[in-house]
Amino acid sequence: MFSNFAFRAVVLATALVVPTPSVAQAPPPLDQPVVTVRGQTYTPRSILARNMGTDEDQTTAFPPHKVIGNVYYVGTRTLSSFLITTPAGHILINSTYERNVRTIQKSVTQLGFKFDDIRILIATHAHGDHQEGDALVKELTGAQVMAMREDVPALEAIRPGGKAHPIDRMLRDGEQITFGGSTLVARLTAGHTHGSTTWTMKAQDGGRIFDVVFASSYRSPATVTAEIESEFNRTFTTIRALPCDVPLGDHPAQYNLAAKYAQLTAGASNPFVDPGNCWGEAEIQEAMLRAQVQMQKATVNRGSVR
Ligand SMILES: [Zn+2]
Repeated sequence: MFSNFAFRAVVLATALVVPTPSVAQAPPPLDQPVVTVRGQTYTPRSILARNMGTDEDQTTAFPPHKVIGNVYYVGTRTLSSFLITTPAGHILINSTYERNVRTIQKSVTQLGFKFDDIRILIATHAHGDHQEGDALVKELTGAQVMAMREDVPALEAIRPGGKAHPIDRMLRDGEQITFGGSTLVARLTAGHTHGSTTWTMKAQDGGRIFDVVFASSYRSPATVTAEIESEFNRTFTTIRALPCDVPLGDHPAQYNLAAKYAQLTAGASNPFVDPGNCWGEAEIQEAMLRAQVQMQKATVNRGSVR
């Protein structure tokens, strides 16, 4: 659980280096601020690198595997896709880049499911690395594409090869999708995009029921406007109130997939059940957001007394 005290300690410990005024030319873009959370140091660039990896990481399948219950991982090394299987057909979360769709299809097949049986396509947020492939998935499967209302303008701008972005149903915060005995709840967790969506569902496994959270990215943009800050304030409150046993994310590094997968193959008890780390990623991103805002204010204040 997130501790306010720990967070304050982190921010106080954060070294804020304000750029010195430029003499003849603008300074190179700085990789600041630097924040330390749970003993790990992060910068804006290190978070981006951790999320995206190399081009090869973005397009190479991560071994497809069962996460829990009827939830499976079918994405690449750095871009998550999740398949939720039901007797009525399947739900896919995140098509990722269009060039990955065939790779996802192969992973679905490898797990013994039919890609053609995907009936619903949803996603975490309207950026190309998560939703560029939507039109192709729809073309191949006929799936209904559902999206948070606030992300629709950004989605409509994602048009690979000039294809219009399919949107069959617009969702509101708290809306449920019930299909084949599974219910997914869409929670608006804006900030990274205006319609960023965190999905929750209950999965049954070994006679128990687990709360699964498919988190969107909570990474703030380079410049934090007042609007974005207030979106994130709401988001960080919303997500910490969600029931959670199994934290997942739209980039595998957000939930330590590689380490957990290694435990999985070693035959340990399900490593994806990790309630102690449900809000670890939010803690990192909130520390970064607060430090960015502080740095922006320091820069503005310094500018005004000059
Ligand atoms: Zn994004």
